[in-house]
Amino acid sequence: MRVDIVTALPEIVRGPLNESIPGRAQTKGLLDVVIHDLRDFTVDKYRRVDDYPFGGGAGMVLKPEPIFACLEHLQSIEGTIDEVIFLSPDGEVFNQSIANELSLKSRIVLLAGHYKGVDQRVRDSLVTREISIGDYVLSGGELPAMVLVDAIARLLPGVLGDTSSALTDSFQDGFLDAPTFTRPAKFNGLSVPDVLLSGDHRRIDEWRDHQRLEKTRMRRPDLLDASEFRSTGSRPTD
Ligand code: SAM
Repeated sequence: MRVDIVTALPEIVRGPLNESIPGRAQTKGLLDVVIHDLRDFTVDKYRRVDDYPFGGGAGMVLKPEPIFACLEHLQSIEGTIDEVIFLSPDGEVFNQSIANELSLKSRIVLLAGHYKGVDQRVRDSLVTREISIGDYVLSGGELPAMVLVDAIARLLPGVLGDTSSALTDSFQDGFLDAPTFTRPAKFNGLSVPDVLLSGDHRRIDEWRDHQRLEKTRMRRPDLLDASEFRSTGSRPTD
């Protein structure tokens, strides 16, 4: 999979994506993250990527020309672009299901806004999808772009040592994950549940399923409503 990140602040994204799971995905040749500095697509001597908003008001706006030039460059590279995603607080809210969907694409472009945002003509003409990482406003789309890359990278086949690890994570099947413990079995007077030391894998699976269900019921009952809705086609209260 190839991910192109288009940004006015490339240094924010460069280091972190070479670490941990996204870094491992790239080392294994399963993911190619290419970062593009919008300033490289400017034509003026000051390499300006932003300008004042028409109509006045606070905040600068990312100019359309460098973004159009960058996308034109990306479209000239071999291989179809599946999605051009603009990270934006008013987009659809990112979740595990969208991560799963995007992990099946071959090539996506992530466009990070900054300042007050981007010129609306970019959104109208170039962008195919708009994604938010939550109902709060960050200074730029760089962190959201990294969130998407990390969530996607761990789903690519072969990236995690044990694929079942990603499949049992929270949200993957509508439940939160079960508690986990490691050695030592006793620490500061705190013990690991006996069942996990029993070696009886049927009982361990039952315990984990029960924990997943109870934790989801306590913390995120909305997920259970949604899974009920998926399996019966009607909400429990219908
Ligand atoms: N004026 C915009 C608004 O109120 O919707 C906010 C602009 S924000 C300061 C600058 C950029 O950060 C946005 O264009 C977007 O790329 C990014 N951004 C901020 N919060 C985000 C979020 N929750 N999800 C995705 N991107 C976000």
